Amino acid sequence: MDLSVFDRLESNIRGYIRSFPTVFETASGSWLTDTQGRRYLDFFAGAGTLNYGHNHPCVKAALIDYLSHDGIMHGLDMGTKAKQDLLLAFDEVILKPRDLDFKVQFTGPTGANCVEAAIKLARKVKQRSHIVAFTNAYHGHSLGALALTGNQYYHDVCYGARSNVTHLPFDGYLGELDTATVLEKMLADPSSGLPLPAAVILETVQGEGGINVASNRWLQRIEQICRNKDILLIVDDIQVGNGRTGTFFSFEPAGIKPDLVCLSKAIGGGLPMSLLLIQREVDLWKPGQHTGTFRGNNLAFVACRALLDLWRDNQLTTHVKALSELVESQLQQWKLEFPGYITAIRGRGLVWGIDTGEINIATEVCKEAFERGLVIETSGAHDQVVKLLPPLTSDQQEITHGLDILHQSFGAIVNQRSRSQAVIAPLAQNAWQKSAVNSLSSF
Ligand code: PMP
Repeated sequence: MDLSVFDRLESNIRGYIRSFPTVFETASGSWLTDTQGRRYLDFFAGAGTLNYGHNHPCVKAALIDYLSHDGIMHGLDMGTKAKQDLLLAFDEVILKPRDLDFKVQFTGPTGANCVEAAIKLARKVKQRSHIVAFTNAYHGHSLGALALTGNQYYHDVCYGARSNVTHLPFDGYLGELDTATVLEKMLADPSSGLPLPAAVILETVQGEGGINVASNRWLQRIEQICRNKDILLIVDDIQVGNGRTGTFFSFEPAGIKPDLVCLSKAIGGGLPMSLLLIQREVDLWKPGQHTGTFRGNNLAFVACRALLDLWRDNQLTTHVKALSELVESQLQQWKLEFPGYITAIRGRGLVWGIDTGEINIATEVCKEAFERGLVIETSGAHDQVVKLLPPLTSDQQEITHGLDILHQSFGAIVNQRSRSQAVIAPLAQNAWQKSAVNSLSSF
């Protein structure tokens, strides 16, 4: 595939085109097609934006109808019929059945925009500047959100974006030790060095950070600590909300009630949109105090409103549960089949991670999978985790097909590696040769 236009004209910043070196042209459901007519099954889903697949028929129909009637496309944050309908539907279908009394802030359309609004509001409400985030957290790249994002790759001291944030160990980071205790103890100790924060922000499943799943117990403990210390709890549900874990919000099974919830990605059905959900008593904004031009993406409101109909019953949740069991049982078998190459399987709903425990394997597997027609990405501090993020609307055959490709790709990479190790092993007779083996085996 000729990518010279992108090489010549697009900034060096381009990323995913390097992992998936082709030119995509059309997409439908779980499938992408490139300009040469080659089809790819999508197990990446726009990093969690396409939970309902590409071009969902409800979204297409609603958008075509809206545009053909000259519906408002851009409306700043004015009142529009599209926004009114969305607010009513969101309240009726999502909030009321879950006994949640949130007000909705339409922030700028990216996840980072939403996180910025959340931490700014928390700071304003509590009149404190400090925020606690967690190891391996990912909250976006604008400077406030970047400060909360763990991965050093995105940081540079000259950005000045590490102030007023402390990262504490996420659930499981210290093995068996309950890391909620670390937060509790540091807050209780006036000499711990941790200032009383305005908020604690967390992902219930860390998507970019390597599919680290917080237990319900840990989430409940964090919530309790926040309540005891008058700290706001922010759940960033940008990647794993919108049904990704089976329920609409990822924190539902834990029974916690965050003060602020960040939603983005799949909430717009593929169009840019973010919502900050704010507990009524926390909504202390003055009118227009946090503003921006693109807070009124009415096309996204229409798409979102159309997709909310999928949440009027339990069908989607049941479907995700069935697919989740299928994926988990397969991955657990692979762990036995490829000992030494898969160190852990983690996930919930339809977000799963295969931890290869080593730099390079996961990247090689994803590259191999792409050549075999599967779009899939890595995550984790060292890109050591293969991340499965298929559309929730995928059917069983599609999931099985994707798993087959991934299985073959693992097999191919494991074979290549064991062949190269077999060649190298006889050489490993003295210390010098041993060190050569070590450096080769990490490629
Ligand atoms: N929070 C989480 C949990 C995310 O996964 C992401 C994006 N991967 C963001 C925030 C930032 O969203 P955006 O890229 O739209 O700014």
